[in-house]
Amino acid sequence: MREHIVAFDQGTTSSRTLLINRQGQVVDVAQRPIEQHFPEPGWVEHDPQEILATQLSTFTDVLVRNGLNPHDIDSIGITNQRETTVVWDRHTGDPVCNAIVWQCRRTTPIIDELCASPEVRERITATTGLVPDAYFSASKVKWILDNVPGARERAEAGDLLFGTIDCWLVWNLTNGAVHATDVTNASRTMLFDIHECRWDPWLLELFGVPESMLPEVRPSSGLFGTTAHPGIAGNIPICGVAGDQQAALFGQCCFNPGEAKNTYGTGCFLLMNTGEKAVRSKNGLVTTIAASAPGTDHVEYALEGSVFMAGALIQWLQEELGIIESASEVEALATSVEDTAGVYVVPAFTGLGAPYWDAEARGAIYGLTRGAGKAHIARACLDALAYQMNDLIDGMVDDSGIPMTRLAVDGGASRNGYLMQFQAGLSRLQIVRPKNTETTAMGAAYLSGLSTGFWKDVAEISAMREIAASFTGNMPDAERETYLKGWRDCIRRTRTS
Ligand code: ADP
Repeated sequence: MREHIVAFDQGTTSSRTLLINRQGQVVDVAQRPIEQHFPEPGWVEHDPQEILATQLSTFTDVLVRNGLNPHDIDSIGITNQRETTVVWDRHTGDPVCNAIVWQCRRTTPIIDELCASPEVRERITATTGLVPDAYFSASKVKWILDNVPGARERAEAGDLLFGTIDCWLVWNLTNGAVHATDVTNASRTMLFDIHECRWDPWLLELFGVPESMLPEVRPSSGLFGTTAHPGIAGNIPICGVAGDQQAALFGQCCFNPGEAKNTYGTGCFLLMNTGEKAVRSKNGLVTTIAASAPGTDHVEYALEGSVFMAGALIQWLQEELGIIESASEVEALATSVEDTAGVYVVPAFTGLGAPYWDAEARGAIYGLTRGAGKAHIARACLDALAYQMNDLIDGMVDDSGIPMTRLAVDGGASRNGYLMQFQAGLSRLQIVRPKNTETTAMGAAYLSGLSTGFWKDVAEISAMREIAASFTGNMPDAERETYLKGWRDCIRRTRTS
């Protein structure tokens, strides 16, 4: 009997391999950091060969430590940093240059030039669900073809392949046999029509990407291929692939419309399942394809919103203000006072994001009185995380007309009980935090294991899930209104337009 599934979690700062048993528990994790290359200010690159090598070596570490061989593994699920772009030679397997990482801003001028007209922007959003930006793969592929000597000619001759990190890994793990990606990763390239589920000819033309470079796009759960790379013997089937945020949505068991997950990390990533409906946002959120269980006969969608300053705000308290020594101290400090004494923090350090979109706004602390101290400011910072998320939640519900029924949380700051309780009260939601917070890797494992029959169906997966903590919104209406009115006032005073 093959009693384990392996999840490859290829993230921005490290490659990890997780060994998962039939009960859905993480048995072991191996991790290797990957080097960040900053060749010029604002540029971020990764070495694709290092990504592959660390993924393979962490896999070996896990097998060796647990006395397993490849034949003991049911299948592999892959989840990955999204949008990061690799272009390589289909004959030699050599990348033509380093991978351009999602954070890299070098292609902003390409976006400014190609997406200047409102008609083009509108067509891109209508087709891809995205707000045109250098984050997504489209302008990164164009940059590579325009700037690496000979690349465009080689691409046009059919010699080069494009892929996001999942696709690069699948191609290498199958020894070049399979050039494929999944719908969730494709939906972040800004080259993919999320309604028709195909590469969009108009976008390929706009960004000058030859069709011969593009991977086949498949559902997230199903056989992609079997391992044939010399570094990973055993013909292990690869049966699940999803981008990190969609994998986390699946790993948090948000299988139905209205179910949402939020990752409270350095930044926050909120995704809500909207089912068969690709909701167009009026509030500046993006529409993306969600991962579906095998046998789902339609594409499922999600709305996605993010906040840049979340855990980062707590880091700021620690590193810049020096009022806490570690993030774990913030809860005790914040709850050492009964309330914020009217203090609000608006963390617009790099502008205000969705639903306000004001790039010129800057952060502010309001409501200081003689009695206000560091505990009040710390508490107001935690509250600010919750207010920002509440704005995104309201935007999602407003856009979709689907009430949010449940919010599943993970990430470093989700350990903060005060924050979770305030969030539940403000957003009138049931918040659940699972015992196993490796939700991204679990999503990849579930997608793979559902495809092979390792797990029977999503009901079995939901039943395995153990909840560590649950928070119910029980804040009195009048109190909630007062808090929200204060926040809205402060937002109004912070906005520049
Ligand atoms: P990432 O994956 O983005 O690096 P993590 O999920 O590891 O982030 O979470 C780390 C972030 O969470 C840090 O920004 C840290 O300040 C914040 N954090 C950690 N513990 C707490 C806590 N108890 N309360 C509030 N914030 C916390």
